[in-house]
Amino acid sequence: MPHIRITDVSKTYPPQRRGGQPVTAVDAVSLDIEKGDVFGVIGYSGAGKSTLVRLINGLEPVSAGSIEVDGVDIATLREAQLRRVRQGIGMIFQRFNLLRSRTISGNIAYPLEVARVPRAQRAARVAELLDFVGLADKADAYPEQLSGGQQQRVGIARALAAEPGILLADEATSALDPETTDEVLDLLARVNRELGVTIVVITHEMDVIARIANKVAVMEAGRVVEQGATYDVFTAP
Ligand code: ADP
Ligand code: ADP
Repeated sequence: MPHIRITDVSKTYPPQRRGGQPVTAVDAVSLDIEKGDVFGVIGYSGAGKSTLVRLINGLEPVSAGSIEVDGVDIATLREAQLRRVRQGIGMIFQRFNLLRSRTISGNIAYPLEVARVPRAQRAARVAELLDFVGLADKADAYPEQLSGGQQQRVGIARALAAEPGILLADEATSALDPETTDEVLDLLARVNRELGVTIVVITHEMDVIARIANKVAVMEAGRVVEQGATYDVFTAP
């Protein structure tokens, strides 16, 4: 059973203004993402990548088709069950989305507080995560005291707090310079290899896919126009 099975999924938004046209952001997309994949989704701005991520995360309902996570169609879930599936899916973002008013530890602890994990357990988990991302010495610093790459490593630690089986990375390195991008991609590769987390990498950058993804889907205007092993998709004549 694939970890994430996307079958003939479409997402259409109603017209933005009176007399406008509806927008089909995702158009009949089918993808199988296996446990342990680093699955790349590449395409230009407006191709439908972010919409696809929101659908996988259950943040918006599909207009047609189905998304199964661990064999369960997420559209059939009640709110409480969907919340549980979402806890098994971590997310990282282009702009990191850290809370300015909280320390690095406080940011990583945040999802654990929301999940009502007891204080002692929370502290132990935060320490473990800080270690894993190599920022133990920054525990009491604030986000603005860190470089972009360090902030994204905090974002990754926060995303891993609840031990998700899936990590969705939406343009996670697009705000970073090439060197820092490498550092973040190396960390994502470790998350995949050492923790066995399935990773979906959304990007407009070929280099990112080539560096980290074992499989890739190419999106254009809502459709997947090509998919397969990264090696085949990027080198086939
Ligand atoms: P990408 O992430 O590849 O840049 P998006 O998924 O953000 O693409 O957008 C795909 C298309 O769907 C674009 O034409 C965009 O304007 C449209 N779109 C995205 N979200 C919405 C929304 N909430 N309402 C209406 N149109 C949207
Ligand atoms: P163990 O079975 O002793 O937890 P693992 O190799 O599974 O050993 O995990 C090593 C560490 O990484 C553990 O402390 C665990 O809490 C953490 N860990 C395991 N899986 C995940 C995950 N999906 N996301 C984040 N951390 C994880």
